[in-house]
Amino acid sequence: MSRVWNFSAGPAALPQAVLERAQSEMLDWNGSGASVMEQSHRGKRFIQMAAQAEATLRELIGIPADYAVLFLQGGATQQFAQIPMNLAGEGDSADYIVSGHWSAKAVSEAAPYVRANVAASGAADDYLKLPARDTWRLDPHAAYVHYTPNETIHGVEFHDIPEVGAVPLVADMSSNILSEPLDITRFGLVYAGAQKNIGPSGLVVMVIRRDLLQRAGRPMARIFRYAEQAANDSMLNTPNTWGWYVAGLTFQWLQAQGGLAVMAERNQAKAGLLYRTIDSSGGYYRNPIEPSARSRMNVRFTLHDSALDAAFLEESEAAGLLALKGHKALGGMRASLYNAVPPEAVDALVAFMQDFAQRHG
Ligand SMILES: *Cc1c(COP(=O)(O)O)cnc(C)c1O
Repeated sequence: MSRVWNFSAGPAALPQAVLERAQSEMLDWNGSGASVMEQSHRGKRFIQMAAQAEATLRELIGIPADYAVLFLQGGATQQFAQIPMNLAGEGDSADYIVSGHWSAKAVSEAAPYVRANVAASGAADDYLKLPARDTWRLDPHAAYVHYTPNETIHGVEFHDIPEVGAVPLVADMSSNILSEPLDITRFGLVYAGAQKNIGPSGLVVMVIRRDLLQRAGRPMARIFRYAEQAANDSMLNTPNTWGWYVAGLTFQWLQAQGGLAVMAERNQAKAGLLYRTIDSSGGYYRNPIEPSARSRMNVRFTLHDSALDAAFLEESEAAGLLALKGHKALGGMRASLYNAVPPEAVDALVAFMQDFAQRHG
C-alpha cells in the first residue's frame, strides 16, 4: 500500500516530511528514550518543545509581543462558545458575518452567551457569494465582529480582511490559517482547529491581542478563561501534547518551504489550475461560486450529470485520489488543497478529471 493523494477536508493531509519525522522519533523522542506522548508536559523537554513551537509560529506569521499565542483543546466548535464567554459581558451584543455553514454554527453556539447579531448573511444567495459589504449592518458598540475567512464546506473565501473600525475582529481561520501571509495586527483574535492546515485534531491554535485578555467576560471556570490559559502557558491542565508536537513540526516544515509567501504562491497555483480545468471543461464540471469569492483551500465541483458521481468517486479512489466526495449537505465533489497537498496531487487530479470526461463523454 503506497500513500495516496489526499484531498480530505479534515482531518486532512499532513506533510509527508512531518509524518516521517514523527515516525523516526516515535520510540525515542529527543534522546529521552520515550515518545513525546509518554512524558510529562511539566518536564523540561516538553516545555522547551512547546516554547519552540510557539516561537516558530510567531516567526512564520510575524506575531508581535502584544499578542498571546494559546494552544487549546475542544476544537473550533468549543471556541464558538468560549469566545463570547470571554469577550462579551452580560447584555452585550456581538456582530456575526454569516457566509456559510461554519459561520452560521458560530452564531448558534454563541447565542447562549451573547446577543449574536447577524450583521450580514449570504444565506439568501445559498452562500454562493459573500454578503456584499454595503449590506453589512455593523454596530459600533458590538463586543466584537466574528467572521469565517474561508468556509470549508461552502467553498467561499474572503480575499481581503474586512475593515470594521475599532471593534475587535475575530476570525475562525480553521481551514485557511498559514495558507498565506497574515497581518495579525488587523485582528483581535484568530483561532483555528488544527486538523485542516496545522496538525492532528484535538488542538486549537489561537492568537489573541493581550488587551482582550483583560475583558471580564462572564463568570466561568478558570479552564475556560483565556487570560488564565495565557498566564499558564496553555497548561492549566494537560494539553494535547501530541498535537502540539506535530504542530511544531508543521511550523518548522513551513519555514523550510520558505514561509507563508511561498505557500501562498503554491496554493494560488494549485487552486488556479483546478478552477481553470473546471471552467474550461465545457460544462462537464462546474463550480457554482462567484469567481471573486472562490476558495483556494476547498474547491467544490459538480459533474454535468450526477448519475456519474458514483463512477467518478470509485474510479478516482482506484487512481489513488482520496476523499473527493463533497459534504453531505451539498453533494457533488470537493477537493481540499491545504498546504500539505503538493502540486503533484493537483496535477494528478486534473489529469484524472480530463481523462474521466473523455471516457464518460
Ligand atoms: C472544521 C471547521 C470547524 C470545526 O472544527 P472542530 O475542530 O471540529 O470543532 C469550524 N470552523 C471551520 C471553518 C472549519 O473548517
